[in-house]
Amino acid sequence: MKTAIDHIALHRDITLAELAGLLSTDDREAIQYLHDRAHAEAQRVYGNKIFMRGLIELTNHCKNDCLYCGIRRSQQSVSRYRLTQEQILDCCQQGYALGFRTFVMQGGEDAWFTDERLVPIVEAVRHAYPDCAITLSLGERSRESYQRLYDAGANRYLLRHETADAAHYARLHPAEMSWEHRMQCLRDLKDIGFQVGCGFMVGSPFQTVETLYRDLQFIRAFQPAMVGIGPFIPATGTPFADRPAGGVETTLRLLSVIRLLIPNVLLPATTALGTLHPRGRELGILAGANVVMPNLSPREHRKDYSLYDNKLCTGDEAAECRVCLDRRIRTTGSQLVVDRGDQAKDTGVETPAY
Ligand code: SAM
Repeated sequence: MKTAIDHIALHRDITLAELAGLLSTDDREAIQYLHDRAHAEAQRVYGNKIFMRGLIELTNHCKNDCLYCGIRRSQQSVSRYRLTQEQILDCCQQGYALGFRTFVMQGGEDAWFTDERLVPIVEAVRHAYPDCAITLSLGERSRESYQRLYDAGANRYLLRHETADAAHYARLHPAEMSWEHRMQCLRDLKDIGFQVGCGFMVGSPFQTVETLYRDLQFIRAFQPAMVGIGPFIPATGTPFADRPAGGVETTLRLLSVIRLLIPNVLLPATTALGTLHPRGRELGILAGANVVMPNLSPREHRKDYSLYDNKLCTGDEAAECRVCLDRRIRTTGSQLVVDRGDQAKDTGVETPAY
């Protein structure tokens, strides 16, 4: 197994058989070796710095009906909200004081946020915080819209591809949603000049080792600046409410593999990982992650952005708890830094095999 891990690290590639082996093995020593190598790669490129992004959940209105999502259009029980420009700027102000230098504005696909409404918001944040990165994660929009948002000052865009297998995509989404269109959006975003993040849920219904292999091959070919992966967690009231959650172990192994495939990728230890395991984020960092995304949204709305059951929203993942989060992260030997956290160049110097 160690030979396979060395092979992945050396060639920055993985075979289906190697992936199947790594995901199914109960050889603890080999898995520890995988995590240690990935953690060492992250440290080689980024030192012991962990970047933080302040997550501002702009809106939980969504026109889509993704079968897994707790804020899908058909969820009757959700109390819907939209932040005003003033609320968004307040979040940024608080975040800036706490040391955040990247703001991630995420939301459902809410038609109310037309370019006419969104561009002035991005411009206002850009104007007020010229030294910060602005990340958007607002789903699929037209190329023209992405261009306008980029011109307004946004730098990065997160759009998980969800699965690189079109047939799998069709089982996770209603017929009106198109895998081809989502992939086209990713290409458009990159073309425009955004630093782009893709990603997927680990353990989503119907996922197989083959679909995961396709995800990894897509990520290798696309070379995103960021990759967001976290366990699928069922959400009450959705068609997948009774499905099992994705595994913490599998997520950690995949984080390590992704770090070995793209050593300088920006890789978050996600809230979903922290939701399923009390030390999820720390374990993620020890497996090669180098980003955390605490919640900066107004407190009164956090419970309404409920993508899945029991989503963390009042503890250490909250931006106000930066000190507690930093204390936790220091147990891994790394520390939170006040930094935009752009992607580093990979000098290409290999971490030696252990
Ligand atoms: N609307 C934007 C989009 O589609 O990219 C951004 C918001 S969307 C809610 C953000 C991400 O949440 C999705 O890409 C999906 O992977 C994740 N997500 C949704 N439901 C989830 C669940 N039940 N468990 C884990 N992650 C989930």
